[in-house]
Amino acid sequence: MIWLKGLRSVLFALALAGALAWLFSARAAAWWLAGFTLLYAIAQTAFLAKLYRWGGLPRSREVPISTGAWEMVLERIARFVKSEHDTREALQAELAQVHAAVDQLPDGLALLDQYDHIDWCNNAATELHGIFGVGRPIHHFIRHPGFVAYLEGEDFGKPPVLPLATRPGRLFELRLHRNDDGTKLLITRDLTELARVDAMRRDFVANVSHEIRTPVTVIGGFAETLLEGDDDPDARREYLTMILRQSQTMQRLVEDLLTLSSLENADAPPADERIDLHALVATLVDEAQALSQGKHGIGMKLLAPRWVLGAASEIESAVRNLLTNAVRYTPAGGQIGVDWRLRDGDGLLSVRDSGIGIAPEHLARLTERFYRVDRGRSRETGGTGLGLAIVKHIAQRHGGNLQIESRPGQGSAFTLRIPASRLLPHPPDQGEQPDQAQSTAK
Ligand code: ADP
Repeated sequence: MIWLKGLRSVLFALALAGALAWLFSARAAAWWLAGFTLLYAIAQTAFLAKLYRWGGLPRSREVPISTGAWEMVLERIARFVKSEHDTREALQAELAQVHAAVDQLPDGLALLDQYDHIDWCNNAATELHGIFGVGRPIHHFIRHPGFVAYLEGEDFGKPPVLPLATRPGRLFELRLHRNDDGTKLLITRDLTELARVDAMRRDFVANVSHEIRTPVTVIGGFAETLLEGDDDPDARREYLTMILRQSQTMQRLVEDLLTLSSLENADAPPADERIDLHALVATLVDEAQALSQGKHGIGMKLLAPRWVLGAASEIESAVRNLLTNAVRYTPAGGQIGVDWRLRDGDGLLSVRDSGIGIAPEHLARLTERFYRVDRGRSRETGGTGLGLAIVKHIAQRHGGNLQIESRPGQGSAFTLRIPASRLLPHPPDQGEQPDQAQSTAK
């Protein structure tokens, strides 16, 4: 095909030259052929020049138009240019997607060339290291000696964990990966949360060991004394009583730890288990009276709905903890009260006492594990330091919270808020009407 198109003009010129020679003379035909060849050469050269110029223009420019055999050649070039253009656009779109995704990452990513100059970085890296413009050495932006030594070293296995000036109070791991072509990838990860959890875990283990050490030492000491053979029956009884008390403290500690761990691992409290809160509080108040041995006046006021949805064992444990604390931290002759009322649709269960109270600076930390205002007093009364942490956890699991108000020397109020969604004003098919109010006071 291209042969035909290419030779068409030549054949036409030859045919015309033949006709001229036949009609006029060979001379006329020769002139015609010479003129045609010259024009043909000029046209081809002009077109080649046009094509050459086009080759230097951006690819988006249209391919020059021509006729004859050139038209077919150019059609192919145009098709090739278009497919190359489409491929480039598709790649660019893909690259833009990858960049957008990488820019969403919370971790900082920066690509460094062989000389540790920044080739490219995502948004997070730009913000974390205050990078402006690529092409600069990374150590212009991260000047921490720990990082500079790591960058210059051979072993990237132990990345430094450093603070960054742009994020005060937080800690970041700066990890380098060496690529096959000599470039490096720098990944910056916020480790603050991990470091905090790790510190908490270490503190927790240290606290538990500390809590266990005292009773174990006391038990060991008295057991040794008994083995050495003190025959005085009163002394033996006293030692055995101490051993028993310390073992009970350890038992309570282990139980509270197990409770906390099961609260952390358990599913959310059921939304369909009905708890008779009035009956539960009455039983726990009786229990508190037994614990108080008549040293306190303990009363209750139940003004909110009787039925609550949740985990009965958890609510029981929370209220028992608050009542036990009230008895333990209220001197003989003091008053303790439990009231269950409604406010803005939520149920508020408060345990109030007229006890020793708590200074304001301790209030925010009371629900931390093992936090005590007075360690000695807590131990003396058999405390584990975990009670309020358990109560807070239970309140949160039920969608509520624990509020604490207190004044030193005047008393405290610990209020468990249970959200309206967990209150049942009229229990279905229970056959029994809830009490409107119930009150006992001693
Ligand atoms: P503990 O076993 O030590 O009582 P909790 O977690 O139950 O541990 O309580 C933490 C601390 O809060 C206690 O050590 C005590 O200092 C303080 N506290 C708790 N309840 C009361 C209260 N009713 N009155 C005064 N202080 C209290």
